[in-house]
Amino acid sequence: MSPRPEQWLQVRPQGLYCEPGGFYIDPSRPVDRAVISHGHGDHARPGHQRVLATAGTLAIMKTRFGEDAGGSLQALAYGEHLAVGEVELWLAPAGHVLGSAQIVMQHAGKRVVVSGDYKRRPDPTCALFEPVPCDVFITEATFGLPVFRHPHDADEIDRLLASLRVFPERAHVVGVYALGKCQRVIALLRRAGYDAPIFIHGALAEMCELYRAEGVELGTLLPATAAAKAAMAGQIVLAPPAAIADRWARRLPDPLVAMASGWMRVRARARQGGVELPLVISDHADWDGLCATIAATGAGEIWVTHGQEDALVHWCTTQGFAARPLTLVGYGDEDEETALPAAQETIQVAAKSAAQEGGA
Ligand SMILES: [Zn+2]
Repeated sequence: MSPRPEQWLQVRPQGLYCEPGGFYIDPSRPVDRAVISHGHGDHARPGHQRVLATAGTLAIMKTRFGEDAGGSLQALAYGEHLAVGEVELWLAPAGHVLGSAQIVMQHAGKRVVVSGDYKRRPDPTCALFEPVPCDVFITEATFGLPVFRHPHDADEIDRLLASLRVFPERAHVVGVYALGKCQRVIALLRRAGYDAPIFIHGALAEMCELYRAEGVELGTLLPATAAAKAAMAGQIVLAPPAAIADRWARRLPDPLVAMASGWMRVRARARQGGVELPLVISDHADWDGLCATIAATGAGEIWVTHGQEDALVHWCTTQGFAARPLTLVGYGDEDEETALPAAQETIQVAAKSAAQEGGA
């Protein structure tokens, strides 16, 4: 009898291990052979002997880790099939950030798809998610509660532009994560017709350059330190949430703090974090996106990991899917969305110090 997927996919201390392929998926510590879904720090880590990923993800890893990106790096295009040990492996677009991929494994007559992080909404900075028919779908569940229903990103960008019209004397500081969210917010602003220069914190520059090199149009970007304080009135400034508390933020005129994240759906959390303009823009699937995707794969069996597993597992069982949580450790630590609670504290500090200085 053929081995079942739970026999050949094993949870080990390093992460999810595909035994017949001899590789780990997004391992949390250095391993001999790793397949990486995307470049966020909790999925792509340095020091593996061999790394297999899309060219976009490898470029991100090289930018972030330099020599430590891996002993040997092998790029696989979306849809390109590769035999790895006894497994047929390919990558499909995950729609999360540039280069992000679902990992598809075919072995012993069964197909298993590991979603990695994903979203279903179109994003001008990366390839659209493609559902892959499979027997077992291993899905993330960052926003796996029915309360999470993301609005249209264009409407959220319109709210930012409307605020800019109402408060032309204030610098609009938008908290964004360096990989993905930053470039998406810029691209959405351009799409909405905003063609003025956009100011960026230095920590965002390298990844913006990488996106540009990969063909993503971002328009004119200037260092946040490039202009005099008065000239920053009515400008949009993007900064990593953790950097908003830095000294440089205080030199902006009467900063209005915005934050682009799926967690901004929880208004209390935004208020608590001192965010004046919460923008619900997420790179993860919302509740409806998760449910629709599970149905679209046609999988009879769903394994739910890193996020709100319980509610989604429950929903799956009510819909007739066999479902279970898959406990993998090490995710969410550095991910753009799940890192938010700590980031909000820094926003709060920044907003307070700006208020104390009178916002001149
Ligand atoms: Zn991610």
